[in-house]
Amino acid sequence: MPIDKLQPQIPIEISRWLGGLAEGYKTSNVLASSGNTFSVQDPGAAASLVQLEESSAVDVSKAISQARSTFNKGDWSKSSPDYRSKIMHRIADLVERDSEFLTTLEAIDTGKPRAEAAFDIDEVVMVLRYYAGWCDKVTGDTIPTEFHTLAMTLREPLGVCAAITPWNYPLPILMYKLAPAIAMGNSFVAKPSELAPLSAIYFATLCEEAGLPSGVVQLVIGAGSVGAELVHSPGLDKIAFTGSTRTGLSIMAAAAKTGTKVSMELGGKSPQVVFNSADIEKAVEGVARGIWTNAGQVCIAGSRLIVQREIKSEFLEALLSYANDLVLGHALEPRSTMGPIISHLQRDKIQVALEQAKNDGAEVQSAGSLSNPDGYFVKPTIVDGLASSHPINAEEIFGPVLSVSTFDEELEAIELANSSRYGLAAGVWSENAGQSLRVAKSIEAGTVWVNTFGIFHPTLPFGGKKASGFGRELGPAAIDAYTETKTIVQELGF
Ligand code: NDP
Repeated sequence: MPIDKLQPQIPIEISRWLGGLAEGYKTSNVLASSGNTFSVQDPGAAASLVQLEESSAVDVSKAISQARSTFNKGDWSKSSPDYRSKIMHRIADLVERDSEFLTTLEAIDTGKPRAEAAFDIDEVVMVLRYYAGWCDKVTGDTIPTEFHTLAMTLREPLGVCAAITPWNYPLPILMYKLAPAIAMGNSFVAKPSELAPLSAIYFATLCEEAGLPSGVVQLVIGAGSVGAELVHSPGLDKIAFTGSTRTGLSIMAAAAKTGTKVSMELGGKSPQVVFNSADIEKAVEGVARGIWTNAGQVCIAGSRLIVQREIKSEFLEALLSYANDLVLGHALEPRSTMGPIISHLQRDKIQVALEQAKNDGAEVQSAGSLSNPDGYFVKPTIVDGLASSHPINAEEIFGPVLSVSTFDEELEAIELANSSRYGLAAGVWSENAGQSLRVAKSIEAGTVWVNTFGIFHPTLPFGGKKASGFGRELGPAAIDAYTETKTIVQELGF
């Protein structure tokens, strides 16, 4: 049955805040004074939310020099771990206090259903508290060398760290970088995506309210050119990036000129390998959520289904039935279970890839109902019948598109899973414990989920192999990523 078009109202407190933002940022930790503006869109309504002022090259350089002088002054970098932890918990308290506001803001800026955005804001709090707990737990070693010397190591902050973050999980991905960086005493300059910068801007105001010393966290705002200005600037000690492999490569080239450290969380084309022995109901739900959460705009999206031949038709039928129950609509419409694509450009890119697949002989099936035709929607789609080397199977589509391959033997499944240039994540579905572990060990990916998919937790290191990048975020690994070891050797005078 068709669903009536419904365009929910943006809550008054959000409208007021956006109105204030259009007149200026009113916080000293957002540096954007170029005089040029750009429009931030609600992709679920294809409508402008606010016109924002962009950062200039001068703003970028000012952000870096303020970050450096704050770092050198030591108000944060040389403060006690206890103080840093207290301020970080205070920021987390404020995110919790304003979680309804932040959830709605993130939902309308990205288009994702409010329930998905609520999950993201909860994760932000968890990540902040996890790294607040690390502040006083990072220690060095004493190392036996000669009897007449005392050798030890200290873990020190890097200095000024920069982050370039994308639009699909704006605040969680920012937090994977910001929280460990500031916990260790670094200063931090971030450039959120122009497509979804609002939650980061609001978060910056909470940092100020929590009493974070000025210059520790600063934002520059605008398009990729502002990000390019940032990464080409001298004076950075690290650049952490999440986004496309193409942009990642250009950032690595820029960093190579200044000798700046980088960590890269890039794209993916994650396989979901389903064996005959899987709990089919559980696997259908896991595969469906793995590709249709956030309308498939997820770096780990399980976009390649690799299914054993005997169960293929039953499995695809169940997936289509799951897709049929999805309601595509505006983020604030309570019936929506799937949101739009972030922009018309991204939507058009997905449609071109699907057209290409059809022209090349694929069987393409879409399902689900559309409650609001104004947004940039693409229905959940399954593409079958093309070789694993076809772009629809090989390239990151970043939309709700699941491509299908079939296998007979375990080794063939592993070969198909590893046939991608990416290596971010994978799912394995099998009730045979030996088989699931054999396959999990054989798949080239940073994370493999077995009989589940997409579990993130602040304690679990996350990152990719191959074209999916390098370096690990979250867990203790991120502490290493934002500190350097210093060795001190003292002659004792025996
Ligand atoms: P990008 O990789 O271009 O964008 C990610 C971030 O990098 C954004 O903040 C962007 O700014 C910024 N940026 C863009 N160009 C430069 C540059 N030259 N130097 C420094 N920063 C830059 O992704 P897109 O938004 O263009 O999306 C394209 C594709 O990337 C998607 O279809 C998807 O395949 C992949 N992607 C992967 C993500 C992941 O989580 N791994 C996340 C997002 C996209 P701005 O957005 O303001 O232009």
